Amino acid sequence: MTAPDRGERLSIPLSAPHQTGGELEAISRVLASNWLASVGPEVTAFEVEAADALGVNAALATSSGTAALHLALRVLGVGAGDEVLVSTLTFCASVNPILYCGARPVFVDSEERSWNLDPALLADELDRRGRTGRLPAAVVVVHLYGQLAELVPILAACERWGVPVIEDAAESLGAHLSVDGARTRAAGTIGTLGIFSFDGSKMITTSVGGMLVSDREDLVTHARKLARQAREPVDHYEHTEIGYNYRMSSVHAALGRAQLPALSSRVAARRAVFAAYRERLEGVPGITLQPEAPWGGHVRWLTCILVDPARAGIDRTALQQALRAGGAESRPVWKPMHQQPVYRALGFPCIGGDVADALFAQGLCLPSSSSLPVEDVDRVCTLIRGAVVTR
Ligand SMILES: *Cc1c(COP(=O)(O)O)cnc(C)c1O
Repeated sequence: MTAPDRGERLSIPLSAPHQTGGELEAISRVLASNWLASVGPEVTAFEVEAADALGVNAALATSSGTAALHLALRVLGVGAGDEVLVSTLTFCASVNPILYCGARPVFVDSEERSWNLDPALLADELDRRGRTGRLPAAVVVVHLYGQLAELVPILAACERWGVPVIEDAAESLGAHLSVDGARTRAAGTIGTLGIFSFDGSKMITTSVGGMLVSDREDLVTHARKLARQAREPVDHYEHTEIGYNYRMSSVHAALGRAQLPALSSRVAARRAVFAAYRERLEGVPGITLQPEAPWGGHVRWLTCILVDPARAGIDRTALQQALRAGGAESRPVWKPMHQQPVYRALGFPCIGGDVADALFAQGLCLPSSSSLPVEDVDRVCTLIRGAVVTR
């Protein structure tokens, strides 16, 4: 059977690109301007509009979220021989840029309330390393599936030892940190640096693309230079450090500008999809939904469930097959990084890991597009109810 991400199109996709209607005009505007050769006003405008929307000082549009994370690590000076602590329950794009820098990842387990990096494990590890002078060069904290990690204690632990934090907010554009029930800063703008992805499946899309943000304008300025082959500001091509070709094109930026104003309605739509699932899956034995943690509004990029085979009479693999047979795409929760053969072969350690292992064993992501009709939620829930053996 073909894996969905190799091009299979089931009638109910996991997370479909959702156009606003303004995209065609936006692209026509770029073509009319013929601004195809280098970074132009469209890219700058997208950066300014995104920074405004997020409430952050500086933004750099990039060719992908992965590129943005690579730049974040580089401007923090992460290099050969360094170690970087990173959530184990995530997509490999949170980790690979650490290796691009010649550094080594150290994986950290999740906690159960948000499925994200466990602040207590992190604090213990930093204390242990701080005392022996082996601090990591950075911490990459991932906000999984639209849910903020417990940032307040995470940032406190890192600040105590002066370790910079990069937020991987690729899946959580539009989420906010709550303090005493009040909405405060946007996910991605709270740590030293933050990154987003505008991949076709994410909250909003430029088809491919990403963004690096920070209140530290000096860091973003350095990243901007690295993203264009690290050209020095002189007329002839001169280079004193190694750069990349990581800038976003005007065409992609125009798509982003057409998408950005829809962000809050996309968040509302995905939360409504989740609410529809919650209502319909109420009382189905062995099925529970990813919780919403008190410290941050969940944008529900993907609605995720846990399938307890002892109570559901079916495991998540069999449930995924049943959904596929019914025309609905679903996907296991990310396979933890400490279980990935490529990283195991390189011997990267993991602090804990049981929580992430259990979430992977039972976790399944359901179709969650912001354009998903409620009839499709009905269909998916009917398939789930039919597959769960009630005894
Ligand atoms: C999508 C994603 C990325 C990478 O984004 P790309 O734009 O695909 O490079 C990074 N981290 C996480 C957690 C993601 O889901």
